[in-house]
Amino acid sequence: MSLNCSTVKITEKNGDLTFLNQAPSQWKEAPDTPINYAPKEETVFLSGGLTLLQDKLIEAALNSLGIRFIALPNPDFKSFQTGKAFGNRGQCNPTYFTVGNLVKYLQHLRDEQGLSSEEIVRKYAYITAGGCGPCRFGMYITEYKKALRDAGFEGFRLTSFDHEKGIFQGEELEEQLLDYTPKFFVTLIKAVIIGDIINMLGYKMRPYEVEAGSTDVALAVCKEIVAEAFLNRSSLIKALWKCRGELGKVKLNRLQPKPKVMVMGEFWAAMTEGDGNYNLYRFLEAEGAECIPQPILNRLMLSIWEAEQALKNKERTAHEGEKAVDFSHAKSRLLIRTAKAAVKTHFALYAKAIGLHDYEVPNMEKLADLAKDYYTLECSGGEGHLEVAHLIEAVKHNLAHLIISVKPFGCMPSSAVSDGVQSLVTAHYPQANFLSIETSGEGAANFYSRVQMALFKAKQAAKEEWEALEKPEYIPEKVHNYLFQPKNEKIGSAARLLAAIEQRI
Ligand code: SF4
Repeated sequence: MSLNCSTVKITEKNGDLTFLNQAPSQWKEAPDTPINYAPKEETVFLSGGLTLLQDKLIEAALNSLGIRFIALPNPDFKSFQTGKAFGNRGQCNPTYFTVGNLVKYLQHLRDEQGLSSEEIVRKYAYITAGGCGPCRFGMYITEYKKALRDAGFEGFRLTSFDHEKGIFQGEELEEQLLDYTPKFFVTLIKAVIIGDIINMLGYKMRPYEVEAGSTDVALAVCKEIVAEAFLNRSSLIKALWKCRGELGKVKLNRLQPKPKVMVMGEFWAAMTEGDGNYNLYRFLEAEGAECIPQPILNRLMLSIWEAEQALKNKERTAHEGEKAVDFSHAKSRLLIRTAKAAVKTHFALYAKAIGLHDYEVPNMEKLADLAKDYYTLECSGGEGHLEVAHLIEAVKHNLAHLIISVKPFGCMPSSAVSDGVQSLVTAHYPQANFLSIETSGEGAANFYSRVQMALFKAKQAAKEEWEALEKPEYIPEKVHNYLFQPKNEKIGSAARLLAAIEQRI
């Protein structure tokens, strides 16, 4: 039970908002009048907020399990404004974008599709991640409920799974809402992994395409192929092999020195492909850069690593010989090992099928080792120690000419903790071209200008790296094929390819 701090009542009609002062009142989780909800087979589940491709693949994957699921449109600036209008003050940017996006969609169902608010509340439900985090993440469910109530959808059902505790429902009412079976999670994770792989290939190819827009056309075809495979429950590996043919048709000129920019930071702000980070990826590409995004897989592996650490701590403090405890720990250990092996195996199979050869599932032990002298590993929340680890890894292993850490304004783990630590990291690694940048939802001009300044330095570095290399007389055709992904000490893709030719790889 928490106190509703808002003293303002907001009413909305045809897009016009009215703000009325009101006396503070006790927050109530459940509506006063019981609601006759639709049974779960008739309930339409909504969610979204990952990358555009992943949202669509998840929709197909969950539909294939018989779940009536709709991926919401990409959160945009209007979603942010809606979230701000109906949410509490002082929330972080992903809360406003995602909460506002849901409210905006329900308003669309009501105002444009003609459904009544009662019908929407009865028939629809929203799936979100939540949890008892040390940051605002722990308040997401309540924040959704507050905004939905104030927007006229009181009692709208929410169901959430917690990355630490496994899966739980926000309240008793929701206990039977969705069957969170292992099959549900395996299917979901397959969609996320495949989305990561295709997205990574897209970011590698787009900056070098000969014909503008051809990579996106090929990616759209791939999306349909994989979605169909999910829906028909046919082989995903065969579908990815087919995608390989589609991507192979895109003509590339890869010998162009372009700065490589690693984008990391708070999970949602760094991953979203829209107004949530001012379309950062497309902006960077338009400015002549190649982006390295952080796949969602990273967050998944961090959750597994955190579960493993929590288990080790429990084992250290448990009383020896307590059979029930020993059994429960052994079971958890087996689950963690199985989860790790399953993610790695699926990733390897899918990546091989479509032709992503130079990326490996992140080694969480190695990343923890890199960060441990700077960041207390027990300190969880947000990306934990990962932002610090990524920066050190990028510098030590020549991964990027520029590392941008994106954070929503006022993010506790990312802005307040990680960035404080990053100043020590950059003092120890002065060669790092590091930019930490806030996305407040407003202030794009300032954001773009800071990115452009950091990018200037990265462009110079990419050019110098390229110019220092001997240019061979004969360039084999395979250099322009996306399947050729050599690894060496060069940062830029063009320099790396050239060095590989010299080394006859
Ligand atoms: S990690 Fe930051 S942005 Fe994400 S929920 Fe926590 S405070 Fe908000």
